[in-house]
Amino acid sequence: LGPVMLDFSVPVRRWVMAGSVTVLFGYDPVLLQRHCNLNERKMVGVVGLEIHAQIQSTSKLFSGSHVRFLAPPNSLVSHFDASLPGTLPVLNRRCVAAAVLTGLALNCTINRKSLFDRKHYFYADMPAGYQITQQRVPIAVNGMLVYSYFEGRRRNQVVTKSVKIKQIQLEQDSGKSLHDDERSQTLIDLNRAGVGLMELVMEPEMCCGEEAAAAVRELQLILQALGTCQANMAEGQLRVDANVSVHRPGEHLGVRTEVKNINSVRHLAKAIDYEIQRQMEVLQSAGKVLNETRAFDSKSGNTIPMRDKEGLQDYRFMPEPNLPPLFVYDSEASVPAGIDPAQVVVIERLSGQLPELPSVKRTRLVETYGILQEHSFTLVNEDGLIDYFENVVQTTKAEPRKVIGWVIKELIGNLNSQNLKVSQSPISPCALAELINLVESGHISSSTAKQVFQEMWKAPEKTVGQIVKEQDLWMINDKEELQKICKRIVDSHPEEVQIIRGGNKKVLNKLMGEVQRETKGRTDPVQIRAILEKMVS
Ligand code: ADP
Ligand code: MG
Repeated sequence: LGPVMLDFSVPVRRWVMAGSVTVLFGYDPVLLQRHCNLNERKMVGVVGLEIHAQIQSTSKLFSGSHVRFLAPPNSLVSHFDASLPGTLPVLNRRCVAAAVLTGLALNCTINRKSLFDRKHYFYADMPAGYQITQQRVPIAVNGMLVYSYFEGRRRNQVVTKSVKIKQIQLEQDSGKSLHDDERSQTLIDLNRAGVGLMELVMEPEMCCGEEAAAAVRELQLILQALGTCQANMAEGQLRVDANVSVHRPGEHLGVRTEVKNINSVRHLAKAIDYEIQRQMEVLQSAGKVLNETRAFDSKSGNTIPMRDKEGLQDYRFMPEPNLPPLFVYDSEASVPAGIDPAQVVVIERLSGQLPELPSVKRTRLVETYGILQEHSFTLVNEDGLIDYFENVVQTTKAEPRKVIGWVIKELIGNLNSQNLKVSQSPISPCALAELINLVESGHISSSTAKQVFQEMWKAPEKTVGQIVKEQDLWMINDKEELQKICKRIVDSHPEEVQIIRGGNKKVLNKLMGEVQRETKGRTDPVQIRAILEKMVS
């Protein structure tokens, strides 16, 4: 194999995947040209994410100050957070446990010994002049995030992909600078200074906004299931920076830009796709992509230059002298004598605490309840929705497949239109089960039930039975009465009856509609069809 083969490792992999294995001995430029079609290969995007996840903990990474979003400015600041001389860091065990738990859930190798370093840069909201991070040996490495999503425009195909996680490192958050343009002042709020962060660095393996958005969405769900981060992007608990470049497959990776200021998953996808397109256009017009930091502008959907990275920053990394190496232990038994096992992080203890992860949940829902895969995604997406659904399923005789329709269409539809969470639903799982039961037992029709659902939403204090009774919505099951109603409709529509008799059965639907209208949907369509068919034949 000539050295040139190394450069073509990507196309070779392609052939194997396509099912036709081509083995090339030696180097035949014509053959290679034909197979690789190098010059015609299209440019593709390459995306690598760096994600800062704020650790959900009551106190900060190295101090006892509380962690709270939206507290009065500078009300959660210890002397250490303000970097007063003489103060020392004390590592918060719970933050370490959160990082290890996250590492385990993301299939990482947990480093039994990791190190802290100082990364220097000057920012007004970082009074020490450096950030404590894990530059040399981070707490977790070599992980993998597996994510599934509905691909493409029609979203009818589930695809499962994975992206490697290079590392997870523990570090401090900075404070916040608030710019007062009117008085041209900058005000500093140190509440966030020293809050624990997990920085997750992903390998540059994704190719577009849709993939990156799906990966981040899955990560959000995992972090929330673990309880290690609330992962709300709009509130800054999850901050995603997208590194983007373009190249032709098989060639070296292109120069990348880093896109910041992305505050939702939707914007992430937009920002990346815009950036890929922009870089392709730059290269096609013989320009050069600059290694720079760009900001996403959500109004225009564009990315705009923030600062260039050409002059590489010197962070003057150095080992943090005030913190010893961080040790975590495999099991209680491996904790050395003289150390209280309760005071250290033990991996075995944490792996026993791993909750059911979203992908496992989805599979379980599909297998247990026979619901559609896409519905399992919706159930897992909304906090508390699985419990709600399972609760209804347990209290009703209806098939889970029927229950899911109610939950996805009526419940979620109503919640979304009013911007409510599942826990704020005015209709309890019990009440919904009662309603569904009335449909199942033939006491109300399914179209009436939808009406009743809306009434229940407006008047949660009333029971299902009350509403049905007040509005006189009970199903008409009396054969004679049904006959009478149908007869009236048939008599008043002689033309339609003619057409049906002439062979156009579709017009029967019109008569059925008339019956439904007259009875306000209180009849069983199957029964009505049978009666009408008999009458006109
Ligand atoms: P640095 O040392 O400059 O921080 P890293 O190798 O740590 O660079 O990568 C930082 C981030 O940039 C990672 O998330 C990685 O996936 C991403 N990245 C690196 N090279 C590229 C590239 N050519 N295109 C897209 N993303 C990239
Ligand atoms: Mg880096």
